[in-house]
Amino acid sequence: MKKALVCGAGGFIGGHLVNRLKQEGYWVRGVDVKENEYGNNASDEFILGDLRDPAFTISVVKDVDEVYQLAADMGGAGYIFTGNHDADVMHNSAMCNLNVLEAMRVNNVKKVFYSSSACIYPEHNQLDPDNPNCEEASAYPAAPDSEYGWEKLFSERLYFSYARNYGFEVKVARFHNIFGPQGTWKGGKEKSPAALCRKAAEAENGTSIEVWGDGVQTRSFLYIDECLDGVRKLMQSEFAGPVNIGSEEMISINDFAKMAIEISGKKLSIHNIPGPTGVRGRRSDNKLIFEKLGWAPSMPLKQGMEKTFQWINQQVTKELVAK
Ligand code: NAD
Repeated sequence: MKKALVCGAGGFIGGHLVNRLKQEGYWVRGVDVKENEYGNNASDEFILGDLRDPAFTISVVKDVDEVYQLAADMGGAGYIFTGNHDADVMHNSAMCNLNVLEAMRVNNVKKVFYSSSACIYPEHNQLDPDNPNCEEASAYPAAPDSEYGWEKLFSERLYFSYARNYGFEVKVARFHNIFGPQGTWKGGKEKSPAALCRKAAEAENGTSIEVWGDGVQTRSFLYIDECLDGVRKLMQSEFAGPVNIGSEEMISINDFAKMAIEISGKKLSIHNIPGPTGVRGRRSDNKLIFEKLGWAPSMPLKQGMEKTFQWINQQVTKELVAK
């Protein structure tokens, strides 16, 4: 039986990844500073602890065939684009990556997946909302628009340095806005799919919901199950990456809000307000992943949003009942 370690197993993607690996017959150890708040944790062994601590990391990153390193200090635009959390984001995430790689070296574990981000792409290629360029090769010369993106770029290079110098088998994917049920949906770290579903679920019929910026900014979003298909394909391939894992279906944030409103079945208008928005346009470019792995996502955005809305609506209702 293959053994895997999922770092960040208490988080959104980590929790779903543990389930996927279990379904595929793996023995799985999960590690995180926190429990998965929605109980989405099927791991055989779950260890609470801080990957910024080198001694702790050496004690858990061992005796496995594969490591999936997803632990990071991250959040949506309200967390990573305001500048208020830059030192934490850079320090905390870099420490996790430095420690995990060093623990792998000490404990002779060689195969690792690292979740990088679309936020590494240069801002100047994403000024036109209708025509952003996120081709993998466009990452350099580097000019990400957030410290979160700079840390990811540094860490990509760190992983490939361990591949070069210590013979690690490294796989790096750049995720583009992954969403779905059991993700953060309130509290300031939520991303736009969850935030829009929550706003539509909470709003009273006939009122409005707030959308940050002019709403013309564009993005693409990938449903969690499809993200995991891409991760597993990459891990089973000879290809190292870095490669985009995202969708090419691009939508403006106002149209995305309209989609959430339509799914809610309510009559709501959109109120655009100033807020952190990130780059003007961003969409995954899937040429490379299709060429290397023969993979492309197939679920329409609306279908994923319906599933996500349903789950968030349940959370909102539960909170109302509890009050
Ligand atoms: P998440 O915040 O739900 O999960 C990250 C987990 O890491 C959290 O449970 C957190 O507690 C844990 N963590 C943070 N610091 C830790 C530490 N010091 N020790 C142990 N655990 C720690 O985020 P997610 O959406 O599941 O993202 C997973 C990974 O994918 C992250 O690396 C993120 O940067 C990357 N990513 C996500 C998206 C997305 O759209 N969700 C996009 C691009 C990249």
